[in-house]
Amino acid sequence: MSALRAAVSQAAKTDLKLGVRAFSTTTGRNGDYPPRPQAKHFPVKKDTMLPPDSYKDKVVLVTGGGTGLGKGMSLKFSQLGAKVAIAARRQEVLDKAAAEITAQTGNVVLPCSLDIRNPAAIKEVVDKIEAELGLPNVVIHNAAGNFISPTERLSANAFQTIIDIVLKGTAFLTLDVGKRMIKQEKGGVFLAITTHYTNEGSGFVVPSACAKSGVETMCKSLGVEWGRYGIRFNCIAPGPIETEGAFSRLDPTGQGAKLMMDNIPVGRIGEIEEIANLATFLCSDYSSWINAETVTLDGGEFRSLAGEFNKLRMITNEQWDMMEQLIRKLH
Ligand code: NAP
Repeated sequence: MSALRAAVSQAAKTDLKLGVRAFSTTTGRNGDYPPRPQAKHFPVKKDTMLPPDSYKDKVVLVTGGGTGLGKGMSLKFSQLGAKVAIAARRQEVLDKAAAEITAQTGNVVLPCSLDIRNPAAIKEVVDKIEAELGLPNVVIHNAAGNFISPTERLSANAFQTIIDIVLKGTAFLTLDVGKRMIKQEKGGVFLAITTHYTNEGSGFVVPSACAKSGVETMCKSLGVEWGRYGIRFNCIAPGPIETEGAFSRLDPTGQGAKLMMDNIPVGRIGEIEEIANLATFLCSDYSSWINAETVTLDGGEFRSLAGEFNKLRMITNEQWDMMEQLIRKLH
C-alpha cells in the first residue's frame, strides 16, 4: 500500500509541475524534449494536403504573418496559389518574410505594417490590400500577445494590452473586413488561432485565457449570425508548436519543456506544417460545412490535462496488481 501511495503522490507532484504550459528556446525539440517512442506511430506530414492551385485567385490576410505559425500558414496558402497579405507591427520582419515566401512560391505576398489595436490603422491596411490584391476572401486571426505571470503581479495596463491585441484587435479586423464582405456580397471565411485553455481556463496566463475565450465566443456567435451572408467562422486551438515568440514568453527558463511530453499522449509536439495544412483545409471549400466550430490540434494534450484520473498512467503494472488485490478484498 505504501508503494501505491508513493506512486500516487509522485504522480500528483508531477502533475502539479506540469500545470504550466511548457516551452523552450534553448535546445529545441531534439534536445530538451525528444519525441517519445509512440511518436513513431504519429508521423509528421509536412507536404501540402490540398490540391495545387486550391487558392488560385483568392486573397488571404494573415495577421502576425511574419513570424511563427502565421508565417507557416502564409507560406502554405501561398504554395496553394493565394495572394497573401501579412500584417503585424514590425515592417522589417514582414518584408523579410514576404520576400522569403515569394521566393519559394512565386506568388505575391504583401507586407502591411499594422498595430491591430488601432481601428483606423486597420481600415488603412484593408484599403491597401483591397486596392492592391482585392478584398480578402479569407482572414486568419493569428496575431496575439501573451506572457506568463502571477496575476496579482499584473498592472491594469498589462491586462488591457493583451485584451486590446487579442480580443479587441480580432474584433476590429472582423468588423472592418466583415462589413466589406457583406456589402460586396462576397462571402468569406474567418479562422482564429486560439488555445485549448479556453476550455478549462489557466492560471498565470489569465488575460490571454480571457481574451482567447472571447475570440472563440465571437467566432461561434458570428458563424451563426453571418452565415446568412455566406461568411463562416472557425477556430483552431493548438497545443505546443515550437515558435520563438511563444516558447520564449511562456517558458523563459526552458525548464517546463522537459516535462511537457508527459501531457501529450501522441508523444511529440506539433509542427508548423500541421497547423498550416489544417488552416488551409478549414478555409477551403472542402470545409464548407464546418462552421462556428473549434478544432483542437494538440495530440490529446487538453484531454490529458483535464481527465481526473489520467495521472494513473504513472502507476506501474506491479502497483496495479497490488491495487487490484486491495479492491477485490473490499468485495
Ligand atoms: P509569434 O511568432 O510571437 O506570433 C505572434 C504574432 O503576432 C507576431 O507576428 C507579432 O508580430 C504579432 N503581433 C503581436 N502584437 C501585435 C499587434 N499589436 N498588432 C499586430 N500584430 C501583432 O507566436 P506564435 O507561436 O506563432 O503564435 C501565433 C498564434 O498562435 C497566437 O495567436 C498564439 O496565441 C497561438 N498559439 C500558439 C501556440 C504555440 O505553441 N506556438 C499554442 C497555442 C496558441 P509583431 O511583433 O511584429 O507585431
